[in-house]
Amino acid sequence: TFKAVRIDKADKGTTVALTQFDESELMDGDVTVRVEWSTVNYKDGLAVTGKAPVVRRFPMIAGIDFAGTVEVSSNPNWKPGDKVIGNGWGMGETHLGAYAEKTRVKGDWLVRLPDGMTTRDAMAVGTAGYTAMLSVLALEKHGLKPADGPIVVTGAAGGVGSVAIAVLSKLGYQVIASTGRTSEEGYLKGLGASEIIDRNELSGPAKPLAKERWAGGIDSVGSTTLANLLSMTKYRGAIAACGLAAGMDLPSSVAPFILRGVCLLGIDSVMCPIELRQQAWARLATDLDHTKLAEITQEISLDQVIDAGAKVLAGQVRGRIVVKIG
Ligand code: NAP
Repeated sequence: TFKAVRIDKADKGTTVALTQFDESELMDGDVTVRVEWSTVNYKDGLAVTGKAPVVRRFPMIAGIDFAGTVEVSSNPNWKPGDKVIGNGWGMGETHLGAYAEKTRVKGDWLVRLPDGMTTRDAMAVGTAGYTAMLSVLALEKHGLKPADGPIVVTGAAGGVGSVAIAVLSKLGYQVIASTGRTSEEGYLKGLGASEIIDRNELSGPAKPLAKERWAGGIDSVGSTTLANLLSMTKYRGAIAACGLAAGMDLPSSVAPFILRGVCLLGIDSVMCPIELRQQAWARLATDLDHTKLAEITQEISLDQVIDAGAKVLAGQVRGRIVVKIG
């Protein structure tokens, strides 16, 4: 047996507990990994609190991402001792996840730990940070360059937001950070934001078009905030939409698209193809400052994960949490 955060179905909702899990209950896969580090993302918060039905198989081991060392492999790409990152692909949702000393997955899901990154660094980045990088890659693919104008980042003090600011500023972009925690101005400026705006400025109903304020954006908030971002985007700019912290809806109009040629770029981390994942992790190894990553990261142990999940949902966590497992 090994230690794991286990979610079971109950009469009403789900139960969650740190308990022993039997190795024979691990699911099919051609690689078994000794998990060293994991993290707590927004989706993990939803899973451990049962606030949204993200878990679709019981029993489940929660946790959508891990970094660790291959223990057993029948996959030709991996051998014992290899350092790997696994995230998404339904782990913690339909496949037994990361809050465990062991996990068994498909080798095709795994990314090799980039040179210069430790397994702890990888989880300080985690799905949130890797999603921030997928968003940066999408803006770059759209053709955006620092000279085009500022980039707005919403949910700035959260996981996706913090990493997005650090990466964009390192790449030379001027970053406008939108946050509900304006008391975090020092933190956000330390990461590289040049201007802080109160998220209330962007949370009211959006006009079809408003004054052009930014060339691009990374939005983890959704709803009216995303609608306002689109209305305020410069001619031929683009917004990468990756989150829904304020809601799933998008009360917008076609005006930004057909009158300003603005593009809305969808970002999904879960089923993202492996080549793009490898590219994103390689860029995280080079374009995310180590000192800044350390500044945004706090460490907890496996027995603190359930509490931490609730705090993430309550918007009380700044930056990223790493979970020490191995
Ligand atoms: P997080 O650390 O909790 O950050 C979310 C941030 O959003 C909060 O820190 C807060 O920032 C802001 N926020 C929270 N509630 C809000 C509200 N009601 N209105 C406006 N802003 C609000 O979560 P995360 O891990 O960075 O994830 C952020 C979002 O991205 C989540 O919705 C998550 O589901 C999504 N996500 C999607 C993917 C994907 O594959 N597309 C991958 C990872 C995450 P401030 O305090 O600075 O305002």
